[in-house]
Amino acid sequence: MSGNPAVVMRLVASAYSVAEKAGAIVRKVLHSGDLGIVEKTGANDLQTLADRLAQKSICASLSRRFPKITIIGEEDLPIEEVREDLIENGQAEDILQRSCPEQYRALKEEELVVWVDPLDGTKEYTEGLLDNVTVLIGIAYGGRAIAGVINQPFYNYQLGAEADLGRTMWGMLGLGAFGFQLQEVPADKRIVTTTRSHSNKTVTDCVNAMEPHEVIRVGGAGNKIIQLIEGKASAYVFASPGCKKWDTCAPEAILHAVGGNNRKLTDMCGNAYCYNADVKHMNSAGVLATLRNHDYYVSRVPQSVLQALKSD
Ligand code: AMP
Ligand code: MG
Ligand code: MG
Repeated sequence: MSGNPAVVMRLVASAYSVAEKAGAIVRKVLHSGDLGIVEKTGANDLQTLADRLAQKSICASLSRRFPKITIIGEEDLPIEEVREDLIENGQAEDILQRSCPEQYRALKEEELVVWVDPLDGTKEYTEGLLDNVTVLIGIAYGGRAIAGVINQPFYNYQLGAEADLGRTMWGMLGLGAFGFQLQEVPADKRIVTTTRSHSNKTVTDCVNAMEPHEVIRVGGAGNKIIQLIEGKASAYVFASPGCKKWDTCAPEAILHAVGGNNRKLTDMCGNAYCYNADVKHMNSAGVLATLRNHDYYVSRVPQSVLQALKSD
């Protein structure tokens, strides 16, 4: 095993392996046939056994290896001993081998914050829309999302038993983004991707104001960022509270890591979110993510929508 001296590289290498383990847990619970669904705030805010087990696995595995890092997971779970079979000790070797970007070499454990969404797209998971599901592990330093891992446990599931099921993408500022082929929608085409299960009038008013050529409604924040970087959508528009920091940290890091100046994930006013340990979890002013033309989308947000978000 290589001993990369930079803590953050070791953390990303662990997060990669841990996300793969969580993805396997998410598949296993589905195949068991008993999802153990619990309503959190209502019928559109669910938690399953997969959310619970995946979070235990991720948080316990990372905190054993990196005890001084702040790890914030979506699910509110009782503090208890985590089963040994949920612990992942692996570290992606090819990440360990990489040279850490200069600006992150001296980072200490206690300066890092990890935002964990053990299963993003739970509603869609319970409805069998399996490629909407992702596991998100975002890493922040100084309030900024600097690295992220996205596992998509059911990638290729429509292709049947022969296909390789699942994949993992990761990225880090100053290093790049890996595990997918970057593609962009042509600049003159506006394809907006938005929520399918958390819509309301403000959300649809805002999408319409963008004058899109096409609108896609799918589940998951991770899934919508994958659509952006794989050339399926030009903008992720969600003019509503609902998304939290664990939904956006890993996606934002990967979006920025693909390189180029114009990659942005902000609120609907164009302001960046902060990922310090003490920020409020809710992204109250919505989510707007693009690979380019961010200013256009910000400029189209109606005053009524800005007003509605502000009054939250
Ligand atoms: P969606 O695009 O609807 O799949 O939402 C992306 C992420 O934000 C998912 O993790 C959702 O659970 C979360 N989210 C968005 N809106 C809400 C809401 N109104 N209540 C609970 N969670 C939400
Ligand atoms: Mg989520
Ligand atoms: Mg979740």
